[in-house]
Amino acid sequence: MTNQQTPMKLGIVIPCYNEEEGLSETTKRLTTLIDKLIAQKSISAESFICYIDDGSKDKTWELIAQFQKESSLFKGIKLSRNFGHQNALIAGLMQLKDEADGLISMDADLQDDVELIETFVEKYQEGYDVVYGVRDDRSKDTKFKRGTANFFYNFQNIMGIEAVQNHADYRLLSQKALHALANFKEINLFLRGIVPMLGFRSCNVYYQREERFAGETKYPLKKMLLFALDGIASFSIMPLRFITMIGFILFMLSLFGIVWVVFEKLFLGNAVQGWSSMMISIYFIGGIQVMALGVIGEYVGRTFQQSKKRPRYIIEQEI
Ligand code: UDP
Ligand code: MG
Repeated sequence: MTNQQTPMKLGIVIPCYNEEEGLSETTKRLTTLIDKLIAQKSISAESFICYIDDGSKDKTWELIAQFQKESSLFKGIKLSRNFGHQNALIAGLMQLKDEADGLISMDADLQDDVELIETFVEKYQEGYDVVYGVRDDRSKDTKFKRGTANFFYNFQNIMGIEAVQNHADYRLLSQKALHALANFKEINLFLRGIVPMLGFRSCNVYYQREERFAGETKYPLKKMLLFALDGIASFSIMPLRFITMIGFILFMLSLFGIVWVVFEKLFLGNAVQGWSSMMISIYFIGGIQVMALGVIGEYVGRTFQQSKKRPRYIIEQEI
């Protein structure tokens, strides 16, 4: 079954946070490509590109407004403050889900190969509702980013989380998939984990990830770690279970310990000995307890945030 044979109405959603340096180039390349696709009737003439300004502190919004004035191809949504990449993305996807047959999300920094958009459209026409852009290799990423990413994917695997490896947020979602996504109300948003849960027909398309065209990464280490934590704690309760298991094993071991201590005391009479092992076990158990509390706290914290049902984003202006 194919989605339809008439040209699809395509929307491209791009979250931007302080991207003034690279936005003009991104706009130029996308305009060229979209014009070409419209000319060859791959996509309809009402297709559009929408920038989401995630509370930038530089000239990003002024630029977006200018692009929009110059060409009807462009839309802009300005969030009232910085809500973070994932929230900016969901803001765009949710605001525009009824205005296109499918939406492609991508970053503003031209790291994702724009030429792949044509392949996304072909896959959509073949009947796929979810198309993942997957990096062929990460040779252009810093060693550090590559290493941490691999570690993270492996850890996710162990935790039983189903995610597409080497896929960032470069993907196409059909209107059907977007409507399904609208039912996921979670606050600690990790779209890469949610999209596979939607189901529908999906496929991967491959590309080489480039270096950032201009500006610097908006994901410093701290944000990256928090994001990774969301990626695990929002999808798996394995860490909790793991701690329960450790606790159980320690408990069993301590039973043997008690038997041994009693035996030592009653029958051998040399109980003062063993101070060092006692100290070690106090530290050991203490450490584990604090760690366990921390992990429990993570989940309690998430429940707390979720229970408030705060909006994930607030729109200040739309053009
Ligand atoms: N971004 C955003 N809000 C933020 C951080 C990032 O909208 O708080 C956007 C950013 O402008 C870019 C995309 O999210 O378009 C991905 O960020 P970046 O390229 O800095 O991440 P990296 O590729 O280094 O992981
Ligand atoms: Mg980037």
